[in-house]
Amino acid sequence: MLPPVRCFTCGAPLGHLWDEYQRRVKQGEEPGKVLDSLGVKRYCCRRTLLTSITYIEDVARYYTLRAKRYRSGGVVG
Ligand SMILES: [Zn+2]
Repeated sequence: MLPPVRCFTCGAPLGHLWDEYQRRVKQGEEPGKVLDSLGVKRYCCRRTLLTSITYIEDVARYYTLRAKRYRSGGVVG
């Protein structure tokens, strides 16, 4: 849901790399090469960054719609 702060396996800090990793991958760089250049060597840390997805914006949109429906008197599930 949120960007990983630390590797789930070894606990190495990764949060400071997330923005640059995402930016460079979105610009078209190969994820493996980005991780190499950021100095992420352990496969557990690479896995954590490679497989993380952020969907907080999607969840926040749901809560906004839910609150809007609640205020208008609609049924909220
Ligand atoms: Zn790790």
